[in-house]
Amino acid sequence: MTKKVKTRFAPSPTGYLHVGGLRTALFAYLFARQNEGIFLLRIEDTDQKRFIEGAAESLMDTLKAFGLEWDEGPYYQSERTDIYKKYAKQLLDDGHAYRCFCTSERLQKMREDQQKNKQSPKYDRKCLELSEKEVEDKLAQGKTYVVRQQIPQEVIEFHDQVRGNLSFHGKDVDDQVLIKSDGFPTYHLANVVDDHEMEITHVIRGEEWLPSTPKHIWLYKALGWEAPEFAHLSLLLNPDKTKLSKRQGDVAAEDFIKKGYLIEAMINFIAFLGWNPGTEEEIFSLEELVNRFSLDRVQKAGAVFSLEKLDWLNGQYIREMSAQDLAKFILADMKNPPLTGEEIDEGTSDAANNFLKYTDCIQTRMKTLNDGPEMIAPFLADEFDYDIELFNHKKMKIDKATAVMAIENSIPTLEALEDYGTEESIKEALVGVIQKLGFKNGQVLWPIRVALTNEQYSPGVFELIMVLGKENTIKRLSSALDKMT
Ligand code: GLU
Repeated sequence: MTKKVKTRFAPSPTGYLHVGGLRTALFAYLFARQNEGIFLLRIEDTDQKRFIEGAAESLMDTLKAFGLEWDEGPYYQSERTDIYKKYAKQLLDDGHAYRCFCTSERLQKMREDQQKNKQSPKYDRKCLELSEKEVEDKLAQGKTYVVRQQIPQEVIEFHDQVRGNLSFHGKDVDDQVLIKSDGFPTYHLANVVDDHEMEITHVIRGEEWLPSTPKHIWLYKALGWEAPEFAHLSLLLNPDKTKLSKRQGDVAAEDFIKKGYLIEAMINFIAFLGWNPGTEEEIFSLEELVNRFSLDRVQKAGAVFSLEKLDWLNGQYIREMSAQDLAKFILADMKNPPLTGEEIDEGTSDAANNFLKYTDCIQTRMKTLNDGPEMIAPFLADEFDYDIELFNHKKMKIDKATAVMAIENSIPTLEALEDYGTEESIKEALVGVIQKLGFKNGQVLWPIRVALTNEQYSPGVFELIMVLGKENTIKRLSSALDKMT
């Protein structure tokens, strides 16, 4: 019988969930779900120096917010130290590990010398030479020590699900510290012990852990255990191919939610960081990803984290929202919402109907939900404190006089117009004005756009007029004219 698939996400709580961590969690989640297996959460918090109050909780909140619910755990490594100590003792007894009494001064000097001689930093195994008696004496003297793994000086080969067959030589690998001088295990020991005890079948994690994998496999062997399968996910890169780092922008997954990215869009985007379906399809829900994801299609090459792509994808998801839902999101985001979400749901008041019309009008231009309040503001304004400079447009040869003429001539035409129900009829009316004045299109449409929104960018003028309606349009044009003359 084949074993039930079990994956884990094993973050060290740093205070926030890195988008790379979210990708690891997502892939481990998808793989488990797809195989009807178990997705486990383990908090790797053995590094007491790095303890941050509330970090584990906020990490779990973020995972839940993204819909990545775990089936087992959370386990906390800090509560399991006795287990790690037990196995460290076994490793010592069986000769797979040894005590190292070297002082930090000695280790530092050794590293500096190695650096000078351009050697890779590696413990020189001085304490491996200690006799049993010497070790006992030092222990009796109460000398502090760490426990180091005795790396076999041989070649190790293993298969990585993403990278294929790999081999390392023990002589290039450092004798890893397994138990620190404070008695706490290092990541390496705790991670291997837990993956075994928790019956993890597939270790899916970031590429940065690949150099540690030979150490881990030797530990499995030394403890007489079968190693799990490994899949190392490639690094996340900035568009300039440098490693994605905090300095170049936000990397905390939760910040993207705050910035107005939709959970569904983020998940879709993150899934494509190193994976693709092999088709042109780009829009996938979490559920669809469970069906379509496969480790075989995860790439070795670094995955570029493109905000442009995320904006595009988010825009696609925003377009898919109903005007009602989007309107409610926007209202919730506004400092002084002019109406409530309930009024939108009822949909009976003029205010609600207008707000829905405005929402519909900006929907296709929104990249994030946070764009909403700003984009909708011009529609809601009672009066503008016009920036008269905006009416000028050098390239289109529009100065104040041109703008005044354009608006002055448009008002009676738009007043006479009855049909505000389609863009076509509005366009026809304004083309008449353009022809009458012998102006270029922009010379009439630009001043109107500014008069209606006090902005440079907005939806198309005809759509704007249609959405604002006759009364509002005339009011705004007249008020702009007043301010200019
Ligand atoms: N605690 C490690 C981390 O923070 C886990 C690495 C692993 O998955 O083995 O990334």
